[in-house]
Amino acid sequence: MLMLIDAASLWYRAYYGLPSSIKAPGGARSGAVRGFFDGLATLSRRFSPTEMVCCLEGNWRPEWRTNLIGEYKAARALEDGSEATPEGLDAQVAAIEALLPALGVATATHPDFEADDVIATLAARTAEPVCVVTGDRDLFQLVDDGRDRNVVYLARGISKAEVFDAEAVATKFGVAPDHYVDFAVLRGDPSDGLPGVKGIGAKTAVSLVNTYGGVNGIRAAAMEEGSEMPARQRQAIADAADYLDRALKVSTVVDDVELPLIDSSLPTGPADSETVEALTEQWGVGSALRRFREAVTAE
Ligand code: MN
Ligand code: MN
Repeated sequence: MLMLIDAASLWYRAYYGLPSSIKAPGGARSGAVRGFFDGLATLSRRFSPTEMVCCLEGNWRPEWRTNLIGEYKAARALEDGSEATPEGLDAQVAAIEALLPALGVATATHPDFEADDVIATLAARTAEPVCVVTGDRDLFQLVDDGRDRNVVYLARGISKAEVFDAEAVATKFGVAPDHYVDFAVLRGDPSDGLPGVKGIGAKTAVSLVNTYGGVNGIRAAAMEEGSEMPARQRQAIADAADYLDRALKVSTVVDDVELPLIDSSLPTGPADSETVEALTEQWGVGSALRRFREAVTAE
């Protein structure tokens, strides 16, 4: 099984999941670094992947997405366009991003795309079972029982990660994974700045999706003469036509990002021991990295 890790989701969980009193020898906060590698160890022990790629956020808010929906992730953007991050996280992210390749863990990223798109692309490239580890709801669209693809959802923390197959997605949201995007654009997603269709709440979104089969089916039904859809809903859908076009493009992950060939096999040992040693000392993460190596290293 190929495990595709949304690395930013994992370090955010690690950052908020561990006390701020955890410090590197120099005094900097180090809980995210420690928790990230401990988290990888925990996930590896639980799911036993045979391949692993840590997918990085090459562009957390691509211009091609904000050109479609200006509000997309706007609430989290600083004036210079970078993402607002909590205190002490940036330096730890830099350490994690340097440690991963030094430890021999495969990473993947593209400067114009989010980790979501990189993950979708790597999933599209393989016939293996895939497990996507993320706290990003958008990736529920990749769940596919027929191809043995699920999402390990980190919302409640790393140790309480929940496995989502198609049934679990349907139980939580009321729609099948291949209609998750339709549901999300209709209802909106406040955390990403997607406004949704005015007057259509979660319940109506679920019922429309399940009755008409996605946004395109809903729009066709709204236009149809003698449609059984209530007039108020038909009007709401018609008024939102332009938004729906743009939102579908924003929310659908891109699965053909141009990425180099990636060797996703598990590390057999450090690729760059000097860097590993220097960062281990600087960040005081020797025991977390030992646990990581014990759990992840290929035999
Ligand atoms: Mn994401
Ligand atoms: Mn996303």
